[in-house]
Amino acid sequence: MNGEWTERTDLPTSPVHNPSTGDVIAESPLADPTTVNEAVQAAADAFPAWWETPAVKRARVMFKYRALIEQEFDSICATISLEHGKTLAESRGELQRGLECVEYACGIPELFKGEYLENIARGIDCEVIRQPLGVCVGITPFNFPAMIAMWMFPLAISSGNTFIFKPSEKVPLTAIRLVQLLEKAGLPKGVLNLVHGGKDCVDTLLSHPDVRAISFVGSTPVAKYIYETGTKNGKRVQSNGGAKNHVIIMPDADVKTSVDGIMGGAFGCAGERCMAIANAVCVGNASKTVLPELAEAARNLKVGPTDRDPQPQMGAVITSQHRDRVAEIVTEGADQGGKILSDGRRAEVPEAPNGFYLGATVIDEVDPQSTLAETEIFGPVLSVLRASDLDEALALANASAFGNGTAIFTTSGSAAREFKHRVQAGMVGINVGVPAPMAMFPFSGWNESFFGDLHVQGRDGVRFYTREKTVTSRWFGESDVWRK
Ligand code: NAD
Repeated sequence: MNGEWTERTDLPTSPVHNPSTGDVIAESPLADPTTVNEAVQAAADAFPAWWETPAVKRARVMFKYRALIEQEFDSICATISLEHGKTLAESRGELQRGLECVEYACGIPELFKGEYLENIARGIDCEVIRQPLGVCVGITPFNFPAMIAMWMFPLAISSGNTFIFKPSEKVPLTAIRLVQLLEKAGLPKGVLNLVHGGKDCVDTLLSHPDVRAISFVGSTPVAKYIYETGTKNGKRVQSNGGAKNHVIIMPDADVKTSVDGIMGGAFGCAGERCMAIANAVCVGNASKTVLPELAEAARNLKVGPTDRDPQPQMGAVITSQHRDRVAEIVTEGADQGGKILSDGRRAEVPEAPNGFYLGATVIDEVDPQSTLAETEIFGPVLSVLRASDLDEALALANASAFGNGTAIFTTSGSAAREFKHRVQAGMVGINVGVPAPMAMFPFSGWNESFFGDLHVQGRDGVRFYTREKTVTSRWFGESDVWRK
């Protein structure tokens, strides 16, 4: 806060695990309202000077930040894998996506430019200028310790705002690395402030009169709460929630492309992704062509610790409680008639017996109205539903309360076109399992997956962190001087 790193031993804490081993590796301090208020004060004090800093100079800090992240790339990825449990390859993918958000923010002088129309009436001109909001807040989930924060603060700060970053208490270590490097890049004191904490900390931020805007990513119940409370308190809010994503596999789908895409989509990051494929809808014969190979690939997926070499194909989930809950939901689904083709409820990892491991589960003929099919599980579980044609498959996908990502695997252009047009989700993949947009496009969830108007990333992100001022000008009087 305010350019100072403070160690606080007087606050309650929450344990941080290495999911690969089950060891407690750190404690997250849980900031109290007094501490949070100090952070907001620091951000509010830093705002006037930062706002007056020309956009090209703000962009230069981002260019330096970009270079520093590249230098430290491998060690940041090791920190992500250590506290999250995902593989190093997945951490590299995540940090690369985050870095692209920094690169996008480097273009802020261009993104910030307004509009101008000469002579809206004779001798009168009108312009739109873009200005920052003031103190903005980012509250992030555990599953992308680097990338999701990087959706937020690079664009907010380069737009001239100051920022409070509240990471998940489960993964505070990557957040520290990210803030340290921005400090090293020359960001003035108080422009970015990091506070660790849980609900109390968030509640203080939601009601603080100096906070102008809140970016949130997390589960749907909390996303709804943040949106409702933040907007009630007069703040601008973009609130991204959970998901239950469907992939439709058409009978004409290429088997290898589909299996590779769905394996990555369902089991990448151990299913702990808001874009994870949770439900596969097999249309017609796809259950005979693609499904057996998918189940075979899931049974062969290697699970293990990601804090050492050699790297497995899938790491542990975030906590032992989460591991047990995922396994219970699978058991419930099987009790209700689901047929387990690959059973990941137990995973023996002798080299790390206390890690939070699950294998990859594929469960067929799942009841579309069951918990397994309808709720977000956030683990390495793929439920298979059956449909006789694309209409039926679309009806199953569109029945979901969520609307984050979705995909189709097909070799038919017209099926793909129909799907793109009719599917009720904000991010659509065609022969792409995880259609997560890059930094120059909005991350555009729908329905229970998003609450707000302007999404994170891209031009939506710039608009979210700024407000427009329209100036109408007319000059007379002293301008006659040039006539003489
Ligand atoms: P979470 O909702 O438990 O926590 C997210 C953040 O909210 C954390 O910083 C946490 O400290 C805070 N928080 C938790 N409970 C709170 C409460 N009652 N009041 C105020 N703040 C609270 O989510 P998580 O388990 O860390 O992350 C997983 C969830 O995030 C999944 O549902 C996943 O789909 C979702 N997610 C969504 C997106 C997206 O873009 N839509 C991206 C990534 C993750």
